[in-house]
Amino acid sequence: MSKPILLSTPHMGDRELEFVKQAFDTNWIAPIGPHVDAFEQEFCQIIGADYAAAVSSGTAAIHLALQLIGVESGDEVFCSTLTFAATANPIIYQRAKPVFIDSDRTSWNMNPELLQEALEYRACIGKLPKAVIVVHLYGQSADIDPILQVCNQYRVPLIEDAAESLGATYKGQHPGTFGCIGIYSFNGNKIITTSGGGMLVSNNADLVAKARFLATQARDRAPHYQHSEIGYNYRLSNVLAGIGRGQLCVLSERVATRRRNFEIYASSLGNVPGIEFMPEADFGCASRWLTCLTIDPEAFGADREQVRNSLSVQQIETRPVWKPLHLQPVFSGCEYIGGTVAEDLFRRGLCLPSGSNLTNEDLERVISAIAAIHYGNGKSQTPLFVI
Ligand SMILES: *Cc1c(COP(=O)(O)O)cnc(C)c1O
Repeated sequence: MSKPILLSTPHMGDRELEFVKQAFDTNWIAPIGPHVDAFEQEFCQIIGADYAAAVSSGTAAIHLALQLIGVESGDEVFCSTLTFAATANPIIYQRAKPVFIDSDRTSWNMNPELLQEALEYRACIGKLPKAVIVVHLYGQSADIDPILQVCNQYRVPLIEDAAESLGATYKGQHPGTFGCIGIYSFNGNKIITTSGGGMLVSNNADLVAKARFLATQARDRAPHYQHSEIGYNYRLSNVLAGIGRGQLCVLSERVATRRRNFEIYASSLGNVPGIEFMPEADFGCASRWLTCLTIDPEAFGADREQVRNSLSVQQIETRPVWKPLHLQPVFSGCEYIGGTVAEDLFRRGLCLPSGSNLTNEDLERVISAIAAIHYGNGKSQTPLFVI
């Protein structure tokens, strides 16, 4: 039986254990401590944000962001449709209503023109949403400038879900630092991980201070435990922040390796009929968190599911591109703005094993397995594995 090749697994550097040991040695085994503070500061320096609050997950960060903006029962929140459910679940936690927006073909992210038209119309009828959540998918920034411009024009706060795009850039700046609030995830499959964790960033000191307050059970300034608001237990553990500090040391290496994975896949399989790789929009540099492609079944000779199943039998884990949220049973009945771009990307899209710890042999196995589906075993023509 060949060794399993997984989609994206944790990849520790040299320093994580040292930081964790420090936490043990000083007995800072709590959701507070020097690593939490340092992790926030170092994170800010790397991505160019002013303030950050380390929290227990990316989902918690999105939930806090909605609270900070004042999203309440009955409010509407515009949200990218092509994303993981965690982007929109917190909208429901707030008893607000998501309105999903389709992708564009260049970035696979929220189509700025659709957003503009929708906000224009909503302004006319006096029914603007309370917030917009834009997602930066699979390591690629959305086209932020026009999105931010139209949000500013109608004074709708923009939340950026950069859970998948730490280390990417948009015109030289990090996604997550453009809007009112940005959020990141350090879940086990993300580009860097603390096993579980997240970050909320903003250039507004008051918002981040309020985020910390809400994330620590909303305790008023009083020696006894007094509460005037409902809070949450959302802070990141000092032990896990230690892992995060170690991971930050290798972030740029991890981005380089994931981009290299993409280059190898694309140069090896780019000419196979029916295969098209996720484009890199010219406004930025993608981290290539996951290498994604679409399959045209006619030209390739097998559809996405046939490819996925065939690879799975060979112990190669791949995954369909996210199922758009407007097609999810749990969000049925929610308003949707757009056409069939996200739907098409879901139907034909596949994410390949993309971890920064994959070996050349792993990549070669994935590449030949995919090529063999098209060309048939043994009769592949051109040298397929190109570094
Ligand atoms: C992973 C992810 C999240 C949630 O992050 P967690 O840390 O797992 O809660 C949110 N949005 C997107 C797009 C993600 O990929």
